[in-house]
Amino acid sequence: MSQTPEAANFIKNIIEEDLKNGKNGGNVITRFPPEPNGYLHLGHVKSICLNFDMAERFNGYCNLRFDDTNPEKENEEYMASIKRDVHWLGFNWKHLNHASDYFPQLLNYAWQLIDKGLAYVDSQSAEDIRVNRGTLTEPGKNSPYRERSIAENRTLFQEMVDGKHPDGSHVLRAKIDMGSPNINLRDPVIYRIRHAAHFHAGDSWKVYPMYDYTHCLSDMLENITHSLCTLEFEDHRPLYDWVLNVLETPCHPQQIEFARLSLEYTVLSKRRLIQLVTEKHVNGWDDPRMPTIAGMRRRGIPAGALREFCRKIGISKADGTIAIEYFESTIRDYLNEHAARRMTVVRPLKVTLTSLPDDHEEHYQLANHPQDESQGSRSVPFSNTLYIENDDISEDPPKKWKRLAPGQAVRLRGSYVITCDEIIKDADGNITELRCHHDPDTLGKNPEGYKANGVIHWVSAKHALDCEIRNYDRLFSQANPMEAENFLDTINPHSLTIIQGAKTEPAAPAEAGTVYQFERLGYYAVDPDSTADKPVFNRTVELRDGFK
Ligand code: ATP
Ligand code: MG
Repeated sequence: MSQTPEAANFIKNIIEEDLKNGKNGGNVITRFPPEPNGYLHLGHVKSICLNFDMAERFNGYCNLRFDDTNPEKENEEYMASIKRDVHWLGFNWKHLNHASDYFPQLLNYAWQLIDKGLAYVDSQSAEDIRVNRGTLTEPGKNSPYRERSIAENRTLFQEMVDGKHPDGSHVLRAKIDMGSPNINLRDPVIYRIRHAAHFHAGDSWKVYPMYDYTHCLSDMLENITHSLCTLEFEDHRPLYDWVLNVLETPCHPQQIEFARLSLEYTVLSKRRLIQLVTEKHVNGWDDPRMPTIAGMRRRGIPAGALREFCRKIGISKADGTIAIEYFESTIRDYLNEHAARRMTVVRPLKVTLTSLPDDHEEHYQLANHPQDESQGSRSVPFSNTLYIENDDISEDPPKKWKRLAPGQAVRLRGSYVITCDEIIKDADGNITELRCHHDPDTLGKNPEGYKANGVIHWVSAKHALDCEIRNYDRLFSQANPMEAENFLDTINPHSLTIIQGAKTEPAAPAEAGTVYQFERLGYYAVDPDSTADKPVFNRTVELRDGFK
């Protein structure tokens, strides 16, 4: 496939430099650390491609780690979907880990912090902790419990671990600096009490570690060399480094932040996506309008196209929003090279060829891919009754009209040139049928000096399969839905149009996800709702020059 040059990636440069300097013993170990509290989306694709590509390129490896420290929001369904989606994208992790499997080690480190006088049990209310943390412009205030003795901290923390205290009554905090200009360093909470069972770790835990504390230690325990994350974690890096420094851990991964992916007309936030699903604005996580991996897969966007997209946008520290046309054209270019061609008529109009008898039948071998014979061919039946698109006829054609009109000839793709002799209408004046004749000398090519007007697609009425077409449009009608007061107000009411009674070439049922280029219409993927006698197709993306 023709590839555009790879875009800049400053992280690749850092790793190359590290390898040159013999850092990390020449190892490159990365991880992709999703929280299993939702389905993965296009933003995660960027992170997955980066982490796995860097590891692979430098002969290292990448782990998949479930960052599952929050017992309330995580579950097995999300975990299963994440594993499936990463594999589908074409990546294999070395180790499959759970942060919750590190709970025993994390607890050990917490005891070490207490013993070093670097962690204390705070018994302020959640509200007091919040207020006393200060603001961006004002320093925080020390907790009245900050100077508890190591012995007292040990006793209280043990009671917390043993489940002797109710939720919210105490927390364990790192003792850093309430006056720090960085709020993340103002004695961050590292453990909280939660009397809740954990879907993976079971129901023995009564205290749960917080994200920042867990993340750096999990990276360290896995010997991660480069911990790649998005820019919003930049201000958390001092805490990441503080924990590893004071515990004098044997390994100290380097956290490097890069800009998140944002795309026009698209919401990339699990919280919002959950809202779309639970409030039924879409039909589930894999609705083809969703920017989830599951949704994009169902829509027909190939994994290879997503990887190509990430390669093209590169990795930088500059936040920006990608134009939707750029995303769509990447998919279109990819599918143009990979998708087999088919003819499907979305709004059928009957054409009778009066020059052929009723029992006439021909079969053509048409290439699946006009530019590449190696991709095989399929047999296309032809008869005296056809369907064409109802807007491929004009009674009063404009200048340069390339389709059918009274007395005007047009080529049927891969077949004959036909001429329209008669237009038949119903009582309301709607066109119900065309009567045409074919020119037997024109099969497949024009004879000398012959000039047909244009080429239209068609299917044989006798042989065609009924199908359902689902045309998708942008889910939001505003380029940046999050700028609206409520992003739900910007949902496009016309994001899905279902068309029944479309006609497609007869063919054995294809696997869900198979994408075709329906000639002159766009790229369409077989939906899992398809049955043997009624395929359902999702429009993946329109053709650039799609006719309207
Ligand atoms: P969201 O912001 O959608 O709720 P999240 O950051 O909470 O996602 P995680 O499960 O924590 O989701 O994400 C796993 C990894 O994916 C993190 O390293 C995170 O930085 C990265 N990631 C999430 N969203 C994007 C994005 N839009 N672009 C690039 N990377 C992202
Ligand atoms: Mg997150």
